[in-house]
Amino acid sequence: MDYDDYGSDAVELAVDLANADRADDGWASAFCAAHHEWFTEGTGLELSRKHAKAAGTTADLVREVALASSRVEVVERLNALLALASPRPYATDHDGTLHLHYAAPEAGALEQLTTTVAMGLSQVVVQHGWERLGVCAAEGCGNVYLDTSRNASRRYCSSTCSSRSTVAAYRARKKS
Ligand SMILES: [Zn+2]
Ligand SMILES: [Zn+2]
Repeated sequence: MDYDDYGSDAVELAVDLANADRADDGWASAFCAAHHEWFTEGTGLELSRKHAKAAGTTADLVREVALASSRVEVVERLNALLALASPRPYATDHDGTLHLHYAAPEAGALEQLTTTVAMGLSQVVVQHGWERLGVCAAEGCGNVYLDTSRNASRRYCSSTCSSRSTVAAYRARKKS
């Protein structure tokens, strides 16, 4: 699967959001600041407590889509996520390449975030299959990942988790 074939790489934003550390109260504002390239220039990226909570709900839904074990579940969870979005697509070449943005440029940070995540994720799941989205099998990780391998055979979020698990399995075998 050629990653460049994606109509949108907004799915990366969805995966990052699902994996964001939400321990700190200001996590949502910090997340938006770290991903500012996804927002229209000039958008206020400080999220209120209420908006941060809503961003957390979106993050949970992305994870639930990744955890789904049947198509029925995927459809249900994707639609729950899409219900939070307010799409108003428009074409732009702000970064030099022509592409689509999903949320109205003048929308607030939360609306831009939710809509971009919901539309980007749905697009990829619909085009490439829900099996492409998974949750890392390494003990204690739990990161959501997108499997871009040719045969959709990935089980880990990173090569670090993959080799860590291989070592753990080897030690367990040796012990027994
Ligand atoms: Zn853009
Ligand atoms: Zn992992």
